[in-house]
Amino acid sequence: MRALTWHGKRDVRVETVPDPRLVEPDDLIVRITSSGICGSDLHLYELLGPYLDPGDILGHEPMGVVEYTGSEVHALKPGDRVVIPFNVSCRACPMCDRGLHSQCETTQVREHGTGASLFGYTKLYGQVPGGQAELLRVPFGNRLPIKVPDGPPDDRYVYLSDVLPTAWQAVEYADLPEGGTLTVLGLGPIGDMATRIAQHRGAGLVIGIDPVAERLTRATAHGVTCLDAGRDGAELTEAVRELTEGRGTDAVIDAVGMEAHGAPFAKAAQWVTALLPDSVAQPLMERAGVDRLTALHLAMELVRRGGTVSVSGVYGGAASPMPLLTMFDKQIQLRMGQANVWRWVDDILPLLTDADPLGVDSFKTHDMPLEEAPKAYAMFQAKEDGMVKTLLHP
Ligand code: NAD
Ligand code: ZN
Repeated sequence: MRALTWHGKRDVRVETVPDPRLVEPDDLIVRITSSGICGSDLHLYELLGPYLDPGDILGHEPMGVVEYTGSEVHALKPGDRVVIPFNVSCRACPMCDRGLHSQCETTQVREHGTGASLFGYTKLYGQVPGGQAELLRVPFGNRLPIKVPDGPPDDRYVYLSDVLPTAWQAVEYADLPEGGTLTVLGLGPIGDMATRIAQHRGAGLVIGIDPVAERLTRATAHGVTCLDAGRDGAELTEAVRELTEGRGTDAVIDAVGMEAHGAPFAKAAQWVTALLPDSVAQPLMERAGVDRLTALHLAMELVRRGGTVSVSGVYGGAASPMPLLTMFDKQIQLRMGQANVWRWVDDILPLLTDADPLGVDSFKTHDMPLEEAPKAYAMFQAKEDGMVKTLLHP
């Protein structure tokens, strides 16, 4: 089959690789019809090289049609249409029972101290081949795939694999009071969808912050009050205070993660925060006198006292030192983690109707053939041509 493979920093290629095979009796093979490119893929593309091996197959936002089933699969049959959650969860262990599918004890990668295995996320997360490919082996075939109806285009459902549950969890964790105010840092696919979900769930003022003009325009079009992250931090803090009677917003969602642009020493800081353990990173950053490394530090400034910071952006390594005095003094509540996809499916599915309150049918900005995936990665990384969300099609 054809698949997108990693070969080095900013070097991904579409190659012919062996087809996946059924291994366990409850495995499925899915023929992929659409596969999203995620901001998390950019971490692998740009930053996390040390954790990849040449030939690793990327991609964790796939949907398609069941092609083969193992002998013990009874919940699905060839021809069924399915979306595959990005975390590989058994839906039967004590963590999954608590709705913490991203901490699944059956697939947890203890070697790296990480949570549940992830599709297409290399040896960091269980070395499970990804779904930017023609075919995908899916374990836990009776429980993991989300079966969706035939008929509507893939766009209607494909974001169930990651974008929708991640953004839903971000809003849930933001714990907004009725009509509350929210700042969303980062208006990529996750941040943009989080603003839509917050609006749908009755938030009052929703502020969006990003350095990319097209992304600000896109969010403004659906009623988000946008600020340009290109301005310096003090100005941003001031602007948010002005909009909130001097307090800051009830909650802030960080949908940026470790590759914030414009942070002081951004490039060096990326490496330090992504790759070094706390004990090494902290003294380095202290010596450099860097007090705001990340969007997360800005989040601590923008949130009101007693408010909540909800982190969906991925941070590797240390991302330290955190402003602990500010966090303690402002009594900030902090929640974070990989999305527990299955936990939110029943909340989200009823919204994926013709009424389309979240605008999923027009959410993507680009459709591209799998063969053009290297070009799509380069464009997404450079934020060219207004690209926000791309679906690859094998
Ligand atoms: P993305 O890379 O398109 O989004 C990041 C956005 O942040 C971009 O629009 C960028 O312009 C903006 N940005 C950069 N620096 C900024 C700054 N200083 N202030 C404000 N905005 C800034 O990708 P995405 O798909 O939306 O993903 C966003 C983050 O969410 C990534 O870190 C990704 O890994 C993470 N993610 C987490 C989960 C989860 O389960 N928690 C799932 C999917 C994605
Ligand atoms: Zn993703």
